[in-house]
Amino acid sequence: GAKTQGKNRWEIFDETRRARAVDRVAVASTLRQALRDDRFVLHFQPVIELGTGKAVAVESLVRLDDPCRGLLPPAAFIQVAEDSGLIVPIGTYVLEEACRQLAAWRASGVVPPDFRAAVNLSARQATQPDLARTVSDALSRAKLEPSALALELTETVLMDADTSTLRQFEELREMGVGLGIDDFGTGYSSLSYLKRLPVSIIKVDRSFVAGLVTDPSDREIVTAVIRLGQALGLTTIAEGVEDAQQFSMLQELGCDQAQGYLLGRPQAQPPLISTNGATLTT
Ligand code: C2E
Ligand code: MG
Ligand code: MG
Ligand code: MG
Repeated sequence: GAKTQGKNRWEIFDETRRARAVDRVAVASTLRQALRDDRFVLHFQPVIELGTGKAVAVESLVRLDDPCRGLLPPAAFIQVAEDSGLIVPIGTYVLEEACRQLAAWRASGVVPPDFRAAVNLSARQATQPDLARTVSDALSRAKLEPSALALELTETVLMDADTSTLRQFEELREMGVGLGIDDFGTGYSSLSYLKRLPVSIIKVDRSFVAGLVTDPSDREIVTAVIRLGQALGLTTIAEGVEDAQQFSMLQELGCDQAQGYLLGRPQAQPPLISTNGATLTT
C-alpha cells in the first residue's frame, strides 16, 4: 500500500545516498594512493598572443593517471579532493611540477626564455595561510622569476576572500606573480571587487566565446569584458576558442590572448613553437 511505497522510497533514497558516500570514500582513497604513487600528471594548453600569433604561456591542467581507468580528468576528482582537503597536497604538487617543467623547457630551449605558466588554485588552497610561501618555494626551487607564474582563481574565491587571504594575494602580486580570474562572468560577483582585488588577468569564460559569432548578446558580453579589462589595465584571455571566426573576432575586439582547441589541446608535451615564435597547430 501507500505506506510501504513511502517507506521504499526512503530506502531507495538512502541507498542512493549511501552509494554516493561509498563512492566518495573510494575516490578519496584513490587520491591518497595516487599522491603516494606519484600518479598525478599535468597537461599543458598553449596560450596564444592575439597580436602576434605567438604562444606566450601554457595553462597547466591536472589529470590522474589511474592504473585501472587510465587518465582521469579533473571533473572526476577535484570536488572530492576539495571536500577531503587532499586538494592542498595535490595543488602543491601541481605548483611544483608546473614550475619544474617550465624551467626545464626554458633550459632546453623548446620555449622562449620569457615563456610563462598558469596553474589553477582551488578555494581550499587559496585560503591556506602559507599560500604565498608555498608559491615562492615552488618558484625558487625551479629558479624562476615570480612573473613566470600566474595563478587562476574563481570569482567565488575572490569574493569570499577574508583579510588575511587578501593580504596573501597582495603579497603574491607584489612579488610579480600573475593573478587571474578564471571563467569570468559565470559566478556571482559584483564588479566592484575588480577595483578592490589585486588581479592582473581576466579569463573570458568559454560559454561566451562559444556564442561570439552567432549570438549577439554573447558578442556584447565579450566586447564589454574586453573593454572592462582594457580600462582597468588587465590582460584579457579568451577561453575555448574553437574556430577561426571566433579567433579573428577576438583579434578585432582587442582581446590580448586566447586558448582553445583551435590553437592547441592540453597535452603532456610543450607546445611546438617555430623559430618565429608561431605555434604550429595541427
Ligand atoms: P579551467 O581552468 O577553466 O580550464 C579550462 C578547461 O577547458 C580545461 O578542462 C580544458 O581542457 C578545457 N578546454 C580548453 N580549450 C577548450 C575548447 O576549445 N573547448 C572546450 N570545450 N574545452 C576546452 P579540464 O582540463 O578538464 O579542466 C577542467 C577544470 O578543472 C579547469 O577549468 C579547472 O577549473 C579545474 N582544474 C584543472 N586543473 C586543476 C588543478 O591543478 N587544480 C585545481 N584546483 N583545479 C584544476
Ligand atoms: Mg583555468
Ligand atoms: Mg577557465
Ligand atoms: Mg572555463
